[in-house]
Amino acid sequence: METYEQILEQMQKLSEGERKQKMEEMTKICRDYCGKCPSYEGTGETRLLFCGTGKSEIIKRERGCLCSECPVQEMMHMRWIFYCTRGSAKEQLAKE
Ligand code: SF4
Ligand code: SF4
Repeated sequence: METYEQILEQMQKLSEGERKQKMEEMTKICRDYCGKCPSYEGTGETRLLFCGTGKSEIIKRERGCLCSECPVQEMMHMRWIFYCTRGSAKEQLAKE
């Protein structure tokens, strides 16, 4: 089975355009999870895809996280949560 680290390597081999398209697809999915998450709603945050792009400048309180239910989490074989407050998957991996 592939690991997040292997998927990350594959992502790095994509062209700029392909990577951008993938990020857009994942952001659309994220909207249904982060966008509806109790830690996100009502904070005024508009950014998404914290698993890829890192912490929110706005979200500070962890009130629950829907990442473990998100298809992107499964697609990328990620294994962390609270990307908006704890950092991107890459950052959380580096802390292990
Ligand atoms: S990363 Fe998790 S806690 Fe943060 S907004 Fe997304 S689903 Fe909610
Ligand atoms: S894993 Fe979390 S941060 Fe990443 S796309 Fe899904 S809901 Fe958004």
